[in-house]
Amino acid sequence: MSHVTRERNGQAVVVGGSLAGLLAARVLSDVYEQVVVLDRDVLPERPVPRRGVPQGRQAHGLLARGAMTIESLIGGFESDVVAAGASIGDAANDIRWYLDGRPILAQESGLPAVMAGRALVEHVVRQRVAAIANVRIVDATEVTGLRVSGDGSLVTGVRLAGADRPVDADLVVDAGGRGSRSPRWLADLGLPEVPRETVELGLSSVSRHFRSRGRHLDGRLGGNSPAHPGQPHSGLVLAEENDTWVVSMNGWFSETPPTDLAGMLAYAGTLDNPDLAEIIRDAEPIGEPAFMRFPHAVRRRYADLAGRPGNYLVAGDALCSLSYVYGQGMTVAALQAQALAEVLRAGTDKLGDRFFAAADAVLDGPWAAATSNDLRFPQAVGVRRPVDPAQAAYLGAVRAATATDPDVARAFLRVFHLVDPASALAAPEIAARIRRPGVNVSSALRRRRLDGIKS
Ligand SMILES: Cc1cc2nc3c(=O)[nH]c(=O)nc-3n(C[C@H](O)[C@H](O)[C@H](O)COP(=O)(O)OP(=O)(O)OC[C@H]3O[C@@H](n4cnc5c(N)ncnc54)[C@H](O)[C@@H]3O)c2cc1C
Repeated sequence: MSHVTRERNGQAVVVGGSLAGLLAARVLSDVYEQVVVLDRDVLPERPVPRRGVPQGRQAHGLLARGAMTIESLIGGFESDVVAAGASIGDAANDIRWYLDGRPILAQESGLPAVMAGRALVEHVVRQRVAAIANVRIVDATEVTGLRVSGDGSLVTGVRLAGADRPVDADLVVDAGGRGSRSPRWLADLGLPEVPRETVELGLSSVSRHFRSRGRHLDGRLGGNSPAHPGQPHSGLVLAEENDTWVVSMNGWFSETPPTDLAGMLAYAGTLDNPDLAEIIRDAEPIGEPAFMRFPHAVRRRYADLAGRPGNYLVAGDALCSLSYVYGQGMTVAALQAQALAEVLRAGTDKLGDRFFAAADAVLDGPWAAATSNDLRFPQAVGVRRPVDPAQAAYLGAVRAATATDPDVARAFLRVFHLVDPASALAAPEIAARIRRPGVNVSSALRRRRLDGIKS
């Protein structure tokens, strides 16, 4: 954990005590005298799902970059989840990854696969952040609006439901999640609508937990089964702490997966990867199925919002709620906290402008990868950018080669896990393996910027 000298920056208030809010609070504690995290939920003492984070009942995979970044922000994260019953495997060898209907070649990658449920990840992070001397986490407290200075250039506090007095703030970070009220609060101050981009996907997710009955999946820790044009069903199975499994299946474009076991098994039978069906068939179902809709991915462009108060930041899903099937949300929340730490190293002057620029730099790659892949489906509604045929052919060849070529498979999974940028797929040693009829490598690589690499 890196600690910088604490300046006298007064009080930072964080709206939302989930992952994005907690990780932001951790970083703010280095440079603000006091950090107050406000959450409307009653926060549980144990690692269990809660109302304010409804997606917490769905399967959550933590990408390797996310695990590494959380560990660097919250020293002891990995040992804490292991102490709580989770295991850590190899992200490429212990998970069976599919891509466009074929399994990616398995091999040791050295990338961590932290097999902890969403609630446990948050619980461990919350325990560590709550132990920081100048951080206070206040639950059952709903923020309802902002108070600003006379000229509107600075936020001076947040208003609370049922309280007469606002909480004073020298900085406010909204980490209120996908349903963030920032657009409303800022409109109440007379600001224009927050510019945003959406991709309509009509997704829904059904998850169910299971208890192990002996050994499953040949000892592996999970598998994914992504959708691709011609295969509109997708899903994920992951080992979680204490010998449990979670199976999640997605319906796209308003199709909803069944919630009963027989229906889930039949649906799993339509997937490319047989791992999900194996767990539903062989393990013991526990708890109730959980259903959730996710109509669209949305990215809000606060950097472009004229008149925004200079000390008001928005992070995590409140800033960008990525299509969840790529499992990037927790990782980009952690990367934004890391970006906030870097921005704060240069002081608090023009903090909003510098933070939103840094957060956008974090989000550009994941957003481009997710949306360009989603927009391969004709039913997806969003801004379609012109596709470079040479680049598309090159990426198609890269994707196909992940099934047979260990170097390409490794490079692809490192990009998928946000460890390397997409341009790593254009590295000369990868390009050399992709030479095949119909693929004009040099034309594809001239641009060096490769999007649409995920599934
Ligand atoms: C179906 C689904 C599956 C997903 N799967 C994955 C995955 O596999 N991997 C992955 O990395 N990510 C996944 N995600 C995304 C992931 O859940 C989020 O990115 C992550 O939880 C970070 O969210 P957050 O902290 O920004 O917001 P949230 O976790 O949504 O938390 C928002 C918090 O703000 C509080 N709050 C809201 N409004 C107020 C208010 N006015 N006052 C006080 N408190 C307030 C809420 O109570 C809550 O605690 C998935 C998302 C969905 C929907």
